[in-house]
Formats: sequence, structure tokens, C-alpha cells
Amino acid sequence: MGISILTVCYLVGSITFIIGLKMLSSPVSARKGNLIAAAGMSVAIAGTIFLYKDDNGEPLHNYGWIFSGLLIGAIIGTIVARKVKMTAMPEMVSLFNGMGGACAALISIIEFGHAIDHLKSSTGIEVIQTSYQNDFRIFLLICCAGLIIGSVSFAGSMIAWAKLNGKIRDFAFKGQHLFNIFLLLVILGLASYLIGSLPAGGKMIFYLIFVLSLLYGILFVMPIGGADMPVVISLLNSFTGIAAACGGFLYNNMVMLTGGILVGAAGTLLTILMCKAMNRSLKNVLIGSFGAKTPATQAGHPAGTYKEISVSDAAMVMSYAHKVMIVPGYGLAVAQAQHACHDLEKLLENKGVDVKYAIHPVAGRMPGHMNVLLAEADVSYDKLLEMEQANEEFPGIDVVLILGANDVVNPAAKNDPSSPIYGMPILEVELAKTVIVNKRSMKPGYAGIENALFFQPKTSMLFGDAKKVLQDLIAEIKSL
Ligand code: NDP
Repeated sequence: MGISILTVCYLVGSITFIIGLKMLSSPVSARKGNLIAAAGMSVAIAGTIFLYKDDNGEPLHNYGWIFSGLLIGAIIGTIVARKVKMTAMPEMVSLFNGMGGACAALISIIEFGHAIDHLKSSTGIEVIQTSYQNDFRIFLLICCAGLIIGSVSFAGSMIAWAKLNGKIRDFAFKGQHLFNIFLLLVILGLASYLIGSLPAGGKMIFYLIFVLSLLYGILFVMPIGGADMPVVISLLNSFTGIAAACGGFLYNNMVMLTGGILVGAAGTLLTILMCKAMNRSLKNVLIGSFGAKTPATQAGHPAGTYKEISVSDAAMVMSYAHKVMIVPGYGLAVAQAQHACHDLEKLLENKGVDVKYAIHPVAGRMPGHMNVLLAEADVSYDKLLEMEQANEEFPGIDVVLILGANDVVNPAAKNDPSSPIYGMPILEVELAKTVIVNKRSMKPGYAGIENALFFQPKTSMLFGDAKKVLQDLIAEIKSL
């Protein structure tokens, strides 16, 4: 009876994961989708804790450990998630993803230990009976896959986390990519030897694979440029999913298997979508070192003349426009200016101006960054235009107000084949009549490259912190 209720719990869990994922694809339903999937996960966890029985009909017994772990994890998770700033979201995703990878690797280590102890007490690993050999090889294959992928994901995610919050910098030595390939081949070679030959010193080889996989995870992520970290995190996320699915195989646990496969598939799709939005191949992201800034570009010496606009003039231009398009970028998130931005939108709308937002798929530091940010300020979803839609509308727009966006409006992506962002689809803001760019200085964006848009005759720079500038604009428009 217990098992059948448990099966229903797992089925409920699996179905809610799929429904939740589907709902996450729209900002309107995303929050609810997340809650539904979390509720399904709670049902699956509670079912496992209270209804699971092993082959001998024994329930779980170490409740003290289980509930202590759950409590500590829940407290840390809640505090971290509540405190995290929108700009630090990729860091948090990376940290949580790393924990998933570590769990998957630990499952492999523990189950390997159990299997070896069991074999030693019955047959001894050196003399596994022929009838057991094939089953044991399949077990070892899954165990090694979970160990390798989980360890790479854990170590890689920790490096990504440390890079994103500035604790460590990009690092590469000469010939590192070749060394990484060599290291990967050694890991796979050792795993094949372990599975194929079932050698006497198998335990040592297994632990060696673990250590080398951790090293590979570190060396794999170390050289990748900071701007590409969200893509790497998404890739590592798919690794964690696959590693968790291996755990599902080991425990013959269907909900873990389904969850792992869904995370693996979603992470892979997201990685592909992000690469597409930047028009770069995954190979280029992994070994291209895009976003590693050079001192010259960091210094921010502008390569031309630009004109500035005052807050009062900008307020005037926008108040008397028919159509205004706001282009939010990373700087808006840094300044936490989303509420001020919504206030400006409402104010202009009250004056009869049609205001919309143009959302680039990789604006900010993760896909959907701008949608989440603006949703937080209650900006209506139907005001958000996707890139293709916005590009069609720009020719009819009177004023484009760019708030802390840079790379996603850089025309070099269209007309400079030597530019690292060449080919990346961009918001074609220069098609509008007037462009006002708000940022704090002439420094480049994340890609570390100059933006010719700032020097065009129709562009005016409105310098300052996005929140402060928006508040000043609001005050100015009110006084008009
Ligand atoms: P960018 O990083 O290109 O530009 C942001 C701009 O905001 C900077 O030029 C900065 O200029 C300005 N800024 C920073 N703080 C403030 C502030 N407080 N007030 C006003 N302005 C501010 O951002 P975009 O959103 O245009 O582009 C995203 C970049 O990230 C792209 O290169 C994209 O490829 C990359 N990326 C995105 C991923 C994703 O999934 N979203 C994944 C990987 C990479 P200043 O310092 O002068 O103020």
C-alpha cells in the first residue's frame, strides 16, 4: 500500500515539474509555475521520507540527520534568496547549482562505497562472479557518470560564483585548452578501465576520478570570460540535471530521474538560446575568452565627440513626443531604478505619450533579467516588446530612452565584422528619430568595446545614475 501511494507522490511530483517548467516560460505565469513545481517537490520529498521502504520492507530510520539537513538547508536557502539583489541572481543560481552537482557526486561516492562493501562481504571485488559482472558494470557506468558530471558541475559552479562576485579573476595558462582535453581523456580512460576491468584497486581509481573531475571543473571554467558566465552557468546547470538523473538511476527513483532529465534538457535549451541571442557558438563561448576586458577599454577613453543633454531638455523632448521607447539594460538593474522607471512611464502616459519597452533577450546578466526586474515594479507585460517586434516599431518612435544598456544597442554588431559582438542581433534604436542614452560615463559595457551609437548626431548622452536621473526627470516633467 505504502509503495503505491509513494508512486502516486512521485507521479504528482513529475507532473508538477513539467507544468511548472511550462509556466516558467511566460512572465505572467512564472511565479505560480515555480510554486507548483516546489509543491510537487515537497510531496515527493515527504513521500520518500515517510513512505519509502527498502527491499527488506524497512523504512528510513535516520530521521535526525534528514530533518537537520532539511532545516539547515531551508534556513540558508530562504535567507540567501530573500537577501539576493537582482544583479546578483546569476551568482546565486551558480551557487545553488553547484550544491546540486555536489549532491549528485556524493550520491555516487556513497553508493559506490556501499556496493564495494556489499561485494567484499559476498564475493570480493577481484572475483566478481560472471553472473554479477554485467549488472555491476552498468551500476559502475552510472556511478562514474554521476561522479564525473556532478564533480565538474560543482567545481565549475563554484569558480563561476567566485568570478561573478569578483572574488577571483579569469585565469589561463598557455596550452590550457589542450591540457583540459588531455585531462578529460585521462578521466574517461580511468573510468573505462574501472568499468571494463573491474580491477583490484578499484576504490583508489574511483577516488582519483573524483579528484581529477574536480580539477577539470576548475580548469574548464577558469579561462572563460566574465561576460559569458551566465551561459556557462546554464551549461553547468544542465550537467547537474544529468548527474541527478544518474542518481535517479542508481536509486531506481522515478521522480529524481524525471527531475534530472528535465533540468538537463532545460539547461541545454537555455544554453543554446543564449548562444543564439549573442550569435555565438558554444565552442566560441567556451574557448573564446569574450568579455575579458583589456586595460584600454576599461579606461574608457571615448573615440569621438558626443553631445550631452540636460535633464530639463530631456524631460521636454519626452513630454512632447507621441511615442517613447524605453530600452532597459544592466545599468537599470544596478541602479535598482525599475520603480522610478515605471513612475516615469505612468507620468508620460498621463500626458498622452505612448510608452513601451524594448527587451533584448540578453540584456542584463541573464535571460529574462529585464522582464523580472520590470515585473517587480508592476510594469504591464503588454508594454514589453521582444526584440524583433521592437525593431519593427523603432522607425515610428520619436524618442528612445536607453537606461543603462550598452552592448545590446551597439551598431558594431551589425556593421563591424572585426567586433567581438559582430552578428549579435541588437535593438536597432538608431532607426528612431531621437536617442537619449543614460549611463554614468563613457565606459564600455560588458563586452568591453566602444559604442558608435553614442557619437551619432541623433544621440544625446544623459549622464548619471539611472535612478537619480529618472527621479530628476520625473520632477522636471511634473513641473512642466
Ligand atoms: P552592458 O553591460 O553592455 O552595459 C551596461 C551599461 O550600464 C554600462 O555601459 C554602464 O555604463 C551602465 N551602468 C552601470 N551602472 C549604471 C547605473 N547605476 N546607472 C546608469 N547606468 C549604469 O549591458 P547590456 O544590458 O546592454 O548588455 C548585456 C551584456 O551582457 C551583453 O554583452 C551580453 O552579451 C552580456 N551577456 C548577457 C547574458 C544574458 O543572458 N543576459 C549572458 C552573457 C552575457 P557606465 O559604467 O558608464 O555607467
